[in-house]
Amino acid sequence: MSQYIWISPEAGMKINELRTPCYVIDEGKLTENLLILNGVMQRTGARILLAQKAFSAFYEYPLIGRYLSGTTASGLFEARLAHEEMGKENHVFCPAFLPQEMDELVEICDHIVFNSVSQYLLHRDKIEKADKKISVGLRINPECSTQEGHEIYDPCAPGSRLGITREALDKAIKNGLDLSRIEGFHFHTLCEQDSDALETTLAAVEEKFGDLLYGLKWLNMGGGHHITRADYDIERLEKCIMHMRDKYDLEIYLEPGEAVALDAGYLETTVLDIVENNGIKILILDTSAACHMPDVLEMPYRPPLMDSGEPGEKKYTYRLSSCTCLAGDVIGDYSFDREIKTGDRLCFCDMAIYSMVKNNTFNGMPLPDIAVMDENNDCKVIRRFEYEDFKCRLS
Ligand SMILES: *Cc1c(COP(=O)(O)O)cnc(C)c1O
Repeated sequence: MSQYIWISPEAGMKINELRTPCYVIDEGKLTENLLILNGVMQRTGARILLAQKAFSAFYEYPLIGRYLSGTTASGLFEARLAHEEMGKENHVFCPAFLPQEMDELVEICDHIVFNSVSQYLLHRDKIEKADKKISVGLRINPECSTQEGHEIYDPCAPGSRLGITREALDKAIKNGLDLSRIEGFHFHTLCEQDSDALETTLAAVEEKFGDLLYGLKWLNMGGGHHITRADYDIERLEKCIMHMRDKYDLEIYLEPGEAVALDAGYLETTVLDIVENNGIKILILDTSAACHMPDVLEMPYRPPLMDSGEPGEKKYTYRLSSCTCLAGDVIGDYSFDREIKTGDRLCFCDMAIYSMVKNNTFNGMPLPDIAVMDENNDCKVIRRFEYEDFKCRLS
């Protein structure tokens, strides 16, 4: 077992007995998600990879590997983690790879996707001289935006650096680019979307790149498919997959991140104090939006909280805030049926994704423990962070 995994001697605790703050990974819910994804694989023959960016809790990689085909990485470190902890298909994409990174990637990856023709040409020799066969892909940009108001999450926005436009590819082909060693195309343009957005995107992919798809082995449709969300239209996703598979004779890959661990985690926290200002009652928690759930401030969004309502909906309304000195480190306003007291515990939901991978020790905040909860709701702590974890990233 990895040196980074530590099992607390007091395993078998319930979630409300864990020391807080603590992330809790819900293995029952994770398995439910994996079964849904595996069903898509079974029915369509598509291969589904875990995109590690949102969720890199490698303790669960053996479980995830039982249901999915492997992993995809945003660069060398994620690729290494997948190689060490899952050891199945290992794909990697990065806007630009360094030469020394490529030396290592050709040893541990089987699929490498380039963001530009110049990156492909820079690294082509290393891939051809590698000990094993590596399947090379290019990330294409279908220039088809399917989301509004979220430009930071839209790789198709004008001026985007992500993916090769048809215009850029044609220019390279005119200048003598040989595509014969390119086995796949990759696009990633969706974010928390349903399969209607995929359908729209595929029409753009076919219109712009259809003529080149016939010569390829695989097509990777990226992530952003919210497949495990209750109202997601899986049937339409499967139609999309089978259409591309059959028409162009392609192996189809999907690489969801969020969908793998959607709603599969909690952040358990304790109320440390209650203060009042201008009639607003403010809870000071032993957690922090800025440090432990940064997407709450970056996205921004209001995380679901167990047994709570919108402000004013239930009898007692509070502002939930953090134990840092950042004035804006506020999670949101919530209401409760009961009066909240110092020492009470609260539980934020959907905290598996973009939490552990994005947290930080700003303000010297301690990092939450990481625990797993099994299908009987029994918890064990698998990682505890200390002062050293704060100090060792500084100098
Ligand atoms: C972020 C990302 C994913 C996963 O996206 P989700 O929204 O987590 O499903 C997949 N592929 C690439 C290239 C990404 O950048």
